[in-house]
Order: sequence, then C-alpha cells, then structure tokens
Amino acid sequence: MKGRYFMAEVKAIYNSKIVCPVCDSDIEYTKVRSKTIRLIKQDSDFCPYYEGENPLYYEAVICPECGYGSHVTSFSSINKYEKEKVRKLITKNWNKRSFTGQRNIDQAIEAFKIVLLNLNDIEAYKSEIAKICVRIAWLYRYKEETRREKKFLEYALTNYKEAYSQEDLTEEGKLDKYNCLYIIGELCKRLEQYEESTQWLSRLIMSYADPKQKPNIPQRLIETSRDLYQEVKDIIAATKEED
Ligand SMILES: [Zn+2]
Repeated sequence: MKGRYFMAEVKAIYNSKIVCPVCDSDIEYTKVRSKTIRLIKQDSDFCPYYEGENPLYYEAVICPECGYGSHVTSFSSINKYEKEKVRKLITKNWNKRSFTGQRNIDQAIEAFKIVLLNLNDIEAYKSEIAKICVRIAWLYRYKEETRREKKFLEYALTNYKEAYSQEDLTEEGKLDKYNCLYIIGELCKRLEQYEESTQWLSRLIMSYADPKQKPNIPQRLIETSRDLYQEVKDIIAATKEED
C-alpha cells in the first residue's frame, strides 16, 4: 500500500527542455514518468494499453515557435534540406501555440497529425510515415472511431509496404524487416485482405527456415506469425464455406 501511495504523490508528467533544430528556439516538451505507469496489454499490432497516463499521447513533439514536429525519438535528426522545407512549407503558415502540459486524446491526435504533415512535406522515410499513421490509428481505436482507425491503418499499410521494398531497414530506429513483414501481415488481416496477409506472413515464416536468416528472427515473433497465419487461413476457409 505504501508503494501505491507514493505513486499517487509523484506527478505523472514533467517537462523537458530541447533546442528546436529548425528555428533554434529553446523549447519544452512533456514526458511521462515511466515509474508512474504500467503496460497492461498490447493488441496484435502492438497498440499499447496503460494504467496511468498514456505515454503514447506525448510521442509527437511539436515546436510551438515554428511548427516543426516529429516523433520524440527523432526530433533532432533532421538534415539541412529538410529544415529548409519545414521553414518554407510549415513555418510560413504556422500560428504559434503551445503543446506542453497534459494532453487529452484529441490533442494527441492533433499533434500526431502535425508530425504527419511535417513528414509528408520533408518527404520523410515511408517507415517513419507508417509509424506515425499506425499511432494515429491506435488513438482512433481508443476512441472507437472505427472508420478513421481503418483509414490510418490503410495509410500505415501502404507506407510499410513501400518501406519494405525501398528502404534499408537495418538502420537505427527502424522496425527491422522481419517485424515489418509481420506488421504488414497483421494490418492486411485487420483490413480484411486475407490472401495478401498470408503471402506476407509466409515470406516471414520461410525466412525462418533459412539458416542464414534464422538467428536474426526472434522466436516469439515467429510463433506469433505462425499463429496469425493459421488464424487468417481459417478465416479464408470459413469464408469459402459460406460461398
Ligand atoms: Zn522550431
């Protein structure tokens, strides 16, 4: 009981300072203290559920001065060409406003959409665009807005597929190619593209049969993928019986 009392006394969120790489302003952004939260469960596409303040709400960091925004893990990694595009396409139309402090779900969605706008304007990696789209979809899932959730899952799927075929997924901060195959299979399933789902999953399952690739694929990922593959196969079989 003492532990719980302590947790309630500690403020769940706090502000941290950072320099905006685009306009050089000293800015503050809000983070969640990891000690105050607990991950309860995750959906099959990794959508997380927490006890306490949801850190997902704070993953989109926006500069209040110039409108530059990114996922919290990549805020400082922007090159000079991208900075120029942000200044030209975002800052020019930006109304200065603060994004620090506690966020509700709609403010979290708004912040992520500003990040998405930034990523599209700077022609960012498809994998980064997909990562943001899937998070927006999760926020709509929390709100039970299925139509919007599906729209963003579709954007995520398109961008993950392009990332898989075009990008070097061994780069730091990116979902590796095996997790990418899994998430593509999973998103196809959620969007009822069952045949396609099995094709992507079987690519992953076949990679595991290759002795050169096997050590790079986590056991848990392959087990989850086999289960998902079977689940989708069963759905396909059930649909055929109905016809
Ligand atoms: Zn800025």
